[in-house]
Amino acid sequence: MTSADIRQRFLNFFKERDHKVLPSSSLIPFGDPTLLFTSAGMVPFKPYFLGQASPPFPRVTTCQKVFRSSDIDVVGHDGHHLTFFEMLGNFAFGDYFKEKAIPYAYEFLTKHLAIEEKRLWAGIHNDDDESDQIWTKTGIPPERIRRFGDEYNFWAAGPTGPCGPDSEIHYDWGEEYGCGRPDCGPNCEYCDRFLEIWNLVFIQWNRDESGIRTPLTKKGIDTGMGLERITSVVSQKQSLFDTDPFLPLIEHWEQETMPGAARCCSPTGSSRRTTGAAMSSDV
Ligand SMILES: [Zn+2]
Repeated sequence: MTSADIRQRFLNFFKERDHKVLPSSSLIPFGDPTLLFTSAGMVPFKPYFLGQASPPFPRVTTCQKVFRSSDIDVVGHDGHHLTFFEMLGNFAFGDYFKEKAIPYAYEFLTKHLAIEEKRLWAGIHNDDDESDQIWTKTGIPPERIRRFGDEYNFWAAGPTGPCGPDSEIHYDWGEEYGCGRPDCGPNCEYCDRFLEIWNLVFIQWNRDESGIRTPLTKKGIDTGMGLERITSVVSQKQSLFDTDPFLPLIEHWEQETMPGAARCCSPTGSSRRTTGAAMSSDV
């Protein structure tokens, strides 16, 4: 399954569940002085979450091109952070909330991408008992649900604007990739055993410049799953640079910069993977 297949399956899945499929919006947000770039799939929909405009559709789904520099210092070091990427998302403006967003995500991953259930873990906010219950009912047992504070499970597009607690879905690459510590789990700071693949944001406040949160009249759903990350899971490559969105680029520049070396290598051989791994750790 290629990244193009995954993108299409995602949009189709939500289209079949009454979401309007919209094209990616501009990478430069229009009329938003708080952002230089579109940093998340929800950016074009901020006025709807804030109640400043009426959404033309109660549910939408997109694959949004985004740019982020907030974690630019780790790009290239761990193989799963990027500055520019595509974000798959489903959004609801007062139409549904956690009770549907969580089962939708689980169904898509396990039934439509055939990801093993035992590999999925959920991170939830410390205060979010409701998500805990929904996840347990949906299929993730309590031992694979971990609670975190604002640092991991609170989301906002910027210092001001719509925000709320979130629930992240993590993929477990397996014990053999772990640090071996008894408390190793999602967001482990000692290893890369767990990969965050999808963030379900439960938008329920508007935060102003002084940090005060005001409840929104209509709660919203804003989810984001990096297309490149889920492609790495589906294709079982721990580095994004070993997946189909990147390999043609890497091969092209191998040809352009190392024509002699390229002639020495098998077209399907290990040189490509080696180059990808080198990029992910050295660039
Ligand atoms: Zn660990």
